[in-house]
Amino acid sequence: MKLRSYLILLVVGAVLPVVIFAGVMVYVSYQQQSENLAQGMIDRARAISAALDREFLISIQSLKVLAASTHLDKGQLQEFYGDMKGALAAHSRAWQNLTLVDASGQQLINLRRPFGSPLPRTGNPEAIEHVRQSKEAAIANLSPGPVTGAPGIVVHVPVLKDGRVKYFLNVVFYPAPLTDLLLQQQLSSDWIATIIDRNHIMVARTRDVGKFLGKPASSTFAAQAGQSREATWRETTIEGTAVVAALHRSDFTGWTVGVAIPMSLLEAPMKSSLIILTAGGLLLLLTGIGLAFLFGSRISRPIAALSAAATALGKGETPRCDASPIVEVNHTARAIEDASVRRKQAEEALTGRNMELQALQEVSQAILMSPDVQTTMEKILENAVALGSYDLGIIRLVDPNTATIKPVAYRGYVNPENIHSHPQLAAADATGRLTARVVTFREPRIEEDVPNCEGLRTWKKEGVQSAIVIPVRAGEEVLGVLQLGARSPRKFTPDAVRLLMAVGDQLGIAIQKSRANEETKRHLERIRALHEIDLAITSTLELQTILNVLLEKIEVFLPIAASSTVRLLRPDSGELESLACRGLDEKAWRSQARTTLGGRAEKVVQTRAPVVVADIQRDTRTYNPAVFRGLVSYLGVPLIVHDTVLGVLSLYTRKEHEFTREESEFLVTLAGQAAIAIHNAQLYEEMVRANKVKDEFLSVMSHELRTPLSVIMGYTGMLRDGMLGEINPKQEEALQKVLGRAGDQLNMVNEIMQTTQLESRSVTAGREPVILSGLMEQLRADYQLRSGKPAVKLVWDYPAGPIEITTDSAKLKQILQNLVNNALKFTDDGTVTISARVREGVSDHNTQHLTPDSRFVELKVSDTGIGIPPEKLQQIFDKFYQVDSSETRLYGGVGLGLYIVKHFTDLLGGTVSVESEPGKGSTFVVRLLL
Ligand code: ADP
Repeated sequence: MKLRSYLILLVVGAVLPVVIFAGVMVYVSYQQQSENLAQGMIDRARAISAALDREFLISIQSLKVLAASTHLDKGQLQEFYGDMKGALAAHSRAWQNLTLVDASGQQLINLRRPFGSPLPRTGNPEAIEHVRQSKEAAIANLSPGPVTGAPGIVVHVPVLKDGRVKYFLNVVFYPAPLTDLLLQQQLSSDWIATIIDRNHIMVARTRDVGKFLGKPASSTFAAQAGQSREATWRETTIEGTAVVAALHRSDFTGWTVGVAIPMSLLEAPMKSSLIILTAGGLLLLLTGIGLAFLFGSRISRPIAALSAAATALGKGETPRCDASPIVEVNHTARAIEDASVRRKQAEEALTGRNMELQALQEVSQAILMSPDVQTTMEKILENAVALGSYDLGIIRLVDPNTATIKPVAYRGYVNPENIHSHPQLAAADATGRLTARVVTFREPRIEEDVPNCEGLRTWKKEGVQSAIVIPVRAGEEVLGVLQLGARSPRKFTPDAVRLLMAVGDQLGIAIQKSRANEETKRHLERIRALHEIDLAITSTLELQTILNVLLEKIEVFLPIAASSTVRLLRPDSGELESLACRGLDEKAWRSQARTTLGGRAEKVVQTRAPVVVADIQRDTRTYNPAVFRGLVSYLGVPLIVHDTVLGVLSLYTRKEHEFTREESEFLVTLAGQAAIAIHNAQLYEEMVRANKVKDEFLSVMSHELRTPLSVIMGYTGMLRDGMLGEINPKQEEALQKVLGRAGDQLNMVNEIMQTTQLESRSVTAGREPVILSGLMEQLRADYQLRSGKPAVKLVWDYPAGPIEITTDSAKLKQILQNLVNNALKFTDDGTVTISARVREGVSDHNTQHLTPDSRFVELKVSDTGIGIPPEKLQQIFDKFYQVDSSETRLYGGVGLGLYIVKHFTDLLGGTVSVESEPGKGSTFVVRLLL
C-alpha cells in the first residue's frame, strides 16, 4: 500500500469514529428530546385539561350560586326564570341556554322559550338519573340540542332540597369557548390540540374545528384515550399529518385533551443535526483525504527519492538527494549520502585490495603452476606488466658465487641489448646504483622521474619515465631485484608498492625453495652416483677391473672430466705405479708417466688433500706434455684408507674449468670409497697368494704323511695276519689297535687333502653308472673287516635289485663312509643302521629342489649315539666345526667329515639333512636324484 493510502486510512480512522460518535450523540439527544417533548406534551395536555376542568367548575359554581336563589327555593319559577336569564346573560360567551328540570325529568324552564310555554321532558334522562344518584354535577357528552339541533355540551347540576334532588339546573355550553380555551393556551402554530368527550367525539380543536366538531377522533387517539389517563404515541392525524401525540384524560370530566405536533417538527432538529453531522463528517473526511493526498505526495516524493537513492546505493551508484521539507527525510538522505561516500571509499579500497589480491593470487598461482623458477619469473613479469600497467620489467638475481647481479628474466624491452649484467655490487656504477641500494637496504626504491634521475641509464634509453625497484627477499637475505617501469609518467600508490613487495617476497621464497630443491636433487644424484660407483667397484675383488670401472663411472657422473687416471703407491718402493687411465693414450702414459714422486701427484700424496691446477699446460710440473695434450684443468685427490695414502685419482678437463667445491667434495668422497675397494682388492690378492702357498703345502704334506702311513699299515697288517711269523693274541690285539689308529690318521690326512682340493676348486664330480646294491655291498664288506666297535651293531638295509644311479661312485662312497664313521664314533653301544631306498616326490623341507614327480635315492645313516643339540645342527657342516671343541674332547677328528659330505652331495646335485635328539641318536639323510 502506498503511503498516501495509509494517510487516507489514518484520516478515515480518525474522522469516522468521531462522526459515528456524534451520530450516536445526535440520536441519543433526539431520543432525549423526544422524551422531553412527550413529557412536555403530556404536561401541556394536563394543563389544558385542568383549564377545561376549571372552565366547567366555574360554570358549575355559577350554577350552584344560581341554584341557591331564593326564587327557586320558594318555587317562584317565574322570578327564577329572570335569575336564569341574568345568569345566561352573564355567561353568554360560553353558555347557550339554561334549563331547569324537575326531579321527574320535566323541563320547567328553558330560556329559549318564554316562561310558561309548554316544555318537553329532558332530552337526556340517563344523565339526569346519574346526577340524581350521585347528587354531583355531571357533564354530558357533546350532543345536538333537542330544540336547536346545534351541538352543545350539557352540564347537569343537581339542586338539592333536604338532601334530595329537587331540580336539575342544566346549562348548555357552546363548544366554541372550549376551542377558544385551547387557542388561549398559546400553543405553537404547528401544534394541534383536541378535546374529545367520553365518547371520543371531538369537542374542540385548534385546527379546522368547524370541519371536525362532533366527529369522532382518530381510532388511535380514541384507543389511547380509552386505555390510559396519560399517554404519548405517534400516528397520522385525520388530516394525514404524521404527528407525535400526547393526551391527558380528566378525572373530573372524563374528557381527554390531546395535543399533537407534526413529526417533521420534532425530527427537524435531529435531521438537521444529522445533515450537519454528515456534511461536516464528509467535509472533514474529504479535507482529511485531500490533506492526506497533499501531504502524502509531499512526503512520498522525498521518500520515493530516498528509495531511489537507496536503490542507487544498492547498485553502487552515487545517490543525489534534494533537500526536503521533512527533517527526518533530510536526515535519512544525508545518512544515505554518507553511506554512499563511505561505500565508495570502501569499494575503492576493496577494488584496490581485490586487484592486489588478484595479482597476488595470480602470482601465487604462477609460482605454484610453474615447473621451474625461470617460468615463475617470466609469469610474474607478464602479470605485473599486464595487471599493474607497466611497460617493461626485469628480474635480476645476485649470483652468490660472483657477487654480481645478473638479469634472469625480462619483458617489454624494445631493445634487449640494453640489458647487461651489473658488475660487482659493491662497485655499482650509476646504472646499478639504484639496484645496489635496494639490495643493500632491502627496501623498495621509487623513481617517478627517470629522465632526470642519476641512474637507470639503460632504462632512459628504453624511454622509461617512472620506475620502481623491489627487493626479492627470502627472509633476511636479498636474492635480487624486481624492476618495473612505465614509459609514461605515473605515481606509485602505497598499495601498489605493498603489492609488489608481496610479489617480491613470494618470488624470493620460490627461488630459495627451488635452490634448496636443486641442492637436494644434486645431493641425491651424488649419493646415487656414489652408491652406483660403490656397487660397481665392490662387485669384484679384481684390482684392474675395479680401477677401470671407477674411471668409467667418473666419466659418466662427472662429464666435465675428459681424462682420468689412477696411480697407486707401491708399498715396497714408494714409487707411483700407473695402473689405469681413461681418455689418454694408455701406452704412452704408462711408459712416460713419472714413476718417482715430484709432480702434482706428489703434492696430493703429501698434502692428503685435493690439488687443483687451472692450466696444466702452463704448469711446470707437467712432466710429459705430449701425453696430456689438449687437456687444461686438473683436479687430483688422494686415495686414502685407514689413514694410509694408497695413491692418487686425477681428473683432466678439455676446457679451462673452475672446479666447484661440490665437484671436489664429490671426487674426494668417491676416492674414499675407491680406496677401500682398492685396499680390499689388494688384500684379496695377497690372500689368494697366501692360500695358494698353503694349499701347495698341505697337498705336499698330506702326500708325505700318507706314504709312511701306508707303509706302516701294510706291515702292521702283515704282522697281524701272521704273515711274518706267529703272534700271540695279545700281540694281535696290539697290532689291531695300531692299525685302527693309523687308519684314523689316514682318514684325517685324506680329509685334509680332500678339503684342500675342494677349496682350490680343482674337484669335479664324475658321472658313471653305479649299481646301488653293489656300492652298499662294498661298504658293508669294508666295515665287516674294520668296525672296531664290537658293542655297536651295524645294520644294512638296501634293495637287492639292480638300481642304477648315474653319479660319482667314489664321492658317494666317501659321503657314506664319513657318515658311517661319525655314527660309529659317536655311538658307544646300540645300532648303526645304513639304509637305501628309492623314493618319489617331495618328502620334506630339505628337498625343495626336488619336484613332486622326481625320483630319488634316499640314503640314511642313523645311530643310537650321543645325538646333537638342536642349536648346533646348523653348524656341524661347517669347516673344522665340532660340537665338542674342548681340548679334552672324547672323540677324535678334525671337523672336516661333514664339511666334505656337504660339498660332495652338492657336487653330486643332491641334498643332505640331519635330524637328531641328544642322548637318543642322529639320522643323516642324503638324497640324490635318479
Ligand atoms: P669330526 O671329524 O669331528 O667327526 P665332522 O665334520 O665329521 O668332524 O663332524 C662334526 C661334528 O659333528 C662332530 O665333531 C660331532 O660333534 C658332530 N657329529 C657328526 N656326526 C655325529 C653323529 N652321528 N652323532 C653325534 N654327533 C655327530
